[in-house]
Amino acid sequence: MARQRIERTDREWRELLTDEEFRVGVKEGTERAFTPGNLNDEKRPGLFHCKGCGTPVWSSEHKFDSGTGWPSFWQPAEPDVIETKTDFKMIIPRTECHCAVCGLHMGHVFKDGPPPTGMRWCINGVVLDFRPQE
Ligand SMILES: [Zn+2]
Repeated sequence: MARQRIERTDREWRELLTDEEFRVGVKEGTERAFTPGNLNDEKRPGLFHCKGCGTPVWSSEHKFDSGTGWPSFWQPAEPDVIETKTDFKMIIPRTECHCAVCGLHMGHVFKDGPPPTGMRWCINGVVLDFRPQE
């Protein structure tokens, strides 16, 4: 079953997000590496929810320490909660990823991750809410 999608205008996003969340999540910016509180250091079991719609998009089960200063995962929490598109902002195109429900920009995916997928989903913690497992 296809997930229900949420569409928001910039004005609606502004009401929902802080300036930094808007810059990263809507304008496809990148938070500074090792930003305090960006969940890079979060090691407890639990789920990372999209700040735009509350969908659980990443799980501690798939999190690893990439050393980059951004929360990194080797796969999304569920295969259909994250979508990708090619980002031509840099000279070498990168693969951008965003929430499949509300479209909030999450980060980028690279092919230098650990097993079993070999993928490194490099995510901005500022667009996530972590909820530890009960
Ligand atoms: Zn979302």
